[in-house]
Amino acid sequence: MKKQLPLFMFLILGLSFVSITACQTNQTVTNSTNQTETKAKENPSPTASTKNDLKVTDEFWKKQLDKANEKRDKPIGEKPPGLNVPKELVPGGVVKQTKKLQEMVDSGYALPLDFADLAEKRAKGELVELPMATETYLVDFEENATEEEFSSFNFEERAKPLTPDSPKFAILKKLADDFDGEKFDLNNPKDRKQMRIRLLSMVNPAAKKILEEVADSYQKKFNRPLIITSMTRSIDYQIKLNEISANSFKVMGKDSRPPHSSGSAFDIARKHLTAEEQNFIMQQLSEMENNGKIDGLIEYGARFVFHVFVYQDGKPPKMD
Ligand SMILES: [Zn+2]
Repeated sequence: MKKQLPLFMFLILGLSFVSITACQTNQTVTNSTNQTETKAKENPSPTASTKNDLKVTDEFWKKQLDKANEKRDKPIGEKPPGLNVPKELVPGGVVKQTKKLQEMVDSGYALPLDFADLAEKRAKGELVELPMATETYLVDFEENATEEEFSSFNFEERAKPLTPDSPKFAILKKLADDFDGEKFDLNNPKDRKQMRIRLLSMVNPAAKKILEEVADSYQKKFNRPLIITSMTRSIDYQIKLNEISANSFKVMGKDSRPPHSSGSAFDIARKHLTAEEQNFIMQQLSEMENNGKIDGLIEYGARFVFHVFVYQDGKPPKMD
C-alpha cells in the first residue's frame, strides 16, 4: 500500500495553496486498489513486457515501481530546493483545456458519461489502454475504483442502475467477455473493480504518444520509469470524485468540461522526484507547450502532480 502523509500535513498543504486544479483529488481519496492482486489477476502468464503489450506481470510492474521509487540522494517532493517552475507550467486555471475540450465536443466528441461510454470508446479505438508497466513508465492508479455495480448516467436522470436488457449493459458485457483475451464476470465485485481500473487507464492515441515521448526522454536521462497516476475519467466518476475531493474539477452540469473527461489528459507523479528530475520534465513540457502541442501544469497540494493536457489534433484552442 502507498505511504500516506499524516493528516495534519495534508491540512497544512491544503491551506498553503489555493489553486485551480484540473485533476487533484485530496487526501480522502484512498487508494483502495490492491495493486498486487490487480496485476496478478490481470496477468496470469509471466511474459516480459513490451511497450504495446497489455499483459504485464505483477513481477515486472513491481520491479518498475521499485525502480521508479529508488532512494534518491537529494531532496524530493512537492517543493525540493532548486525546483525551477517555468512560467508555462505555473498553475493559472485550465481555460485552454476546457476551451479545447469544447472545440472537441463541437466537432463531435462525446464526453464519456459513464463506464459503458468508456468501454465503447475503447472498442472504437478512440481511447487506448496503457499497459500497467513498460520500460519507460508504469501506471500506479491512485484513485478510487469501486466494486459497485455499473450504472448509466445522464444529466437528466442522473445515475441509474443498468438493467441486463439495456444497450449500455450489452457494451460492458461484451467487454467483460473478452477484455483483451481475459474474461470478467459483471456479477463479481472484484471483477468490476478490475474492469474499472482498466477503463480508467486509457487515453487517446495522441496523448499516449506524448506520454511516451516524455517518459522515453526521462528514462534515457535518469534510467527510471515515470509513474502515471490518472488518465481518462467518465463524468459519473468525476462526480464521485467531487463528493470526496473539494479540489477536483467540479461537474456543475451538462456544460462542464472536466479536462480528464477528454481522453487527452494524464498526470505524472512527482512526489518521489528530485528537483533535477522535475526540472527536466518541466523543461520538456514547457517546450511542448511552446510548440502548441500541450497545456501543462504543475499542481500543488494534497496530491501534487504534473497535469498534462494534449491537443489531440496538434493544435491549441482558438482563444478569443
Ligand atoms: Zn490531471
